[in-house]
Amino acid sequence: MALFERKEKYIRINPNRSMKRTEPRETPEVPDELFAKCPSCKHMIYQKDLGLEKICPHCSYNFRISAQERLALTADENSFEELFTGIKTKNPLDFPGYEEKLALVQEKTGLDEAVVTGIATIEGNRTALAVMDSNFIMASMGTVVGEKITRLFELATQEKLPVVIFTASGGARMQEGIMSLMQMAKVSAAVKQHSNQGLFYLTVLTDPTTGGVTASFAMEGDIILAEPQTLIGFAGRRVIETTVRENLPDDFQKAEFLLDHGFVDAIVKRVDMKSTVAKLLAFHGGVK
Ligand SMILES: [Zn+2]
Repeated sequence: MALFERKEKYIRINPNRSMKRTEPRETPEVPDELFAKCPSCKHMIYQKDLGLEKICPHCSYNFRISAQERLALTADENSFEELFTGIKTKNPLDFPGYEEKLALVQEKTGLDEAVVTGIATIEGNRTALAVMDSNFIMASMGTVVGEKITRLFELATQEKLPVVIFTASGGARMQEGIMSLMQMAKVSAAVKQHSNQGLFYLTVLTDPTTGGVTASFAMEGDIILAEPQTLIGFAGRRVIETTVRENLPDDFQKAEFLLDHGFVDAIVKRVDMKSTVAKLLAFHGGVK
């Protein structure tokens, strides 16, 4: 039974009321690049108020940023020399539409793959640097991503340089099947060779770092930093909950949870990231 019942069958409309229809109001056109909605607190924020670091002024949420924006925040001005560009995937599974998808996302992001690799200085400390970009097919790890990072480690081993990687990834690139999973072992072998030379490897986990990237080079750093509130995990929350048949805590797979459990060494705010990375590089080898 309904809680409230209407006594009269029909609603009387005031006959004096004008029934003239007004033209549908035009929705104001706001250019996308002018405002951003914070995914955390849902505030609409004037882009300029986010600053270069892209941090929500209301709740301190760290917006996901592109590889180019990350490089601008991290590397010394004009110091970044990009390497290993132009490597192309051969679409090993003949996955339908994969080449077209790649071409489209390359045009949209201005990147050739989900990771940018090269050499830069960070407050004067010369380092091999890789930055992953979640705008590129969720920074999934395909053969080219694996190859670029492997070559970066090989070069760093040769030139006795430290390696800094800003990780972000949705996991393996499903369009490349087993070939993408093999990158985990390939990169890990290159990390080990670099480590055998006593060289320093620093990872910075950014939102989101999941799947095969977490299960390999993201967690192999000598020191592992993370940005606040970063999602870090292997399998998705729902998959785990169904498998273990338990409810997981709210902050499960968040950087803060991982810090409490010893998987992350420190959570560093984006504004302090460059100076922290520079300090760590200086401690472990210094300016070259
Ligand atoms: Zn916010």
